[in-house]
Amino acid sequence: MKHLNPTQFSPSLAGVLRRWLLAAAIGFCSVSKFSAQESERPNILFIMGDDHTSQAWSCYGGILAEHAQTLNIDRLASQGALLSNVFCVNSICVPSRASILTGQYSHINGVKNLGDALDSAADNVAKRLRQSGYQTALVGKWHLKSEPSGFDYWNIIKRQGRYREPVMFRMNLARGTVKRGAFSTDVFTDEALAWLDRRDPDRPFCLMLHFKATHAPWQFPPRLASLYRNVDLPEPSGLHEGTGPRHGRVPGWPLEILTGRMTAAADHGDGRLVLSSDDPKIIRQETYQKFVKDFLRCGAAIDENVGRVMDYLIQHDLVDNTVLIYTSDQGYFLGEHNYFDKRFMLEESLRIPFVVRFPGRIAPGTVIDDMILNVDFAPTLLDFAGAAIPPAMQGRSFRANLQGATPQDWRTEMYYRYFQNSQERPAHYGIRTLDRKLIYYDGLNGVAEDRRWEFYDLATDPKERINRYDAEANSEQIQNLKLRLAALQAHLGDFP
Ligand code: CA
Repeated sequence: MKHLNPTQFSPSLAGVLRRWLLAAAIGFCSVSKFSAQESERPNILFIMGDDHTSQAWSCYGGILAEHAQTLNIDRLASQGALLSNVFCVNSICVPSRASILTGQYSHINGVKNLGDALDSAADNVAKRLRQSGYQTALVGKWHLKSEPSGFDYWNIIKRQGRYREPVMFRMNLARGTVKRGAFSTDVFTDEALAWLDRRDPDRPFCLMLHFKATHAPWQFPPRLASLYRNVDLPEPSGLHEGTGPRHGRVPGWPLEILTGRMTAAADHGDGRLVLSSDDPKIIRQETYQKFVKDFLRCGAAIDENVGRVMDYLIQHDLVDNTVLIYTSDQGYFLGEHNYFDKRFMLEESLRIPFVVRFPGRIAPGTVIDDMILNVDFAPTLLDFAGAAIPPAMQGRSFRANLQGATPQDWRTEMYYRYFQNSQERPAHYGIRTLDRKLIYYDGLNGVAEDRRWEFYDLATDPKERINRYDAEANSEQIQNLKLRLAALQAHLGDFP
């Protein structure tokens, strides 16, 4: 265990004394299990992309690993921990962000769909950190409709905002501001680092830096325009799957929908999609190439800015006492099953990439394969801060897991529910265990003929290519999974 040197965090003796007194007071009132050596309260820098799925991060391997330009994110992972089994409980932007902040499932915090607002009066992780003495700030994408609460400072885009010259709204200012020529990922980082410059160096901080990238329409700064020119990216094995009930799948959003959007809109990535053929297979392939290149360029701009944040921490002697996280709000399909978008309980959409560095506490090169959920993020941040975790938070801290001491009773199954109901992407819920998945689609408006179950054996079919619900040999384990699903719903208080 690395010993902390208090003098490295502040030039002022009074500041050091204040921190030690605060740490001692917190030690009396908190549930922290930190030892005396660990009583220095770490800073928390939580960086989050939007839809920045694990297939687009080199450190997660996969077919794009050689092409994804994520050197800084990979470096962050190698200096700390990479979490290989993080899942969201509702794979859509607004609800996932609400679950991350509140530590609660959608049916409890009330943010079930894209149109729902987070109640400003409700408890959240920022409020708890602030109450426990942290300076709190939020910069970038908020997306939760209501005014941010729990932050000493915020500077955000409203709704989706723009990639280029985004209008940013700062607390206590009615009018938004625009930085001419700015690209959102760059300007959010500028604003976040400027706040770090202004903060009180004698108190710990929690800074949330939320990028708009890599949400559609996957724009990027001009400096990345030549990336992947004349390169053919590998295709996922399921790119040419059919969708729709005839193919054993719900319709979803196939790349054909994206083709229409990209040929019509000049603001998609590097401009309109130009097709060389009217052959459906070639159209799908060419759509995939443009889509994923734009996506990866958009992600490369994130990586550059994660690098800027890492450099800042080094230059300001903050590395050793800062928990630095980079994650995403959910996963995303990059052509798997011929889908783009998220929402489904299938792996690419369900999975959240997550890397974290905390020198001296998390060993470099750690890989954690425990099942972690986005509702666990808030309790974990509070645990690192030595603050009490409110019982209303449904997630569980994984601080011990990160430090090589996974609790023996750690979860081996999780509950998922997507609420928004449409013909293409119907509402559904299900259970995922360590190697099995059972999903129930209730059908649009509960129409009986649209109701269906899907069962996947992830051990033998990790790409979820075959729905084995109807196989007689699986009936016993499916019945068992249904009982466990019902038990999870009862435990969490959700009764669809
Ligand atoms: Ca998202």
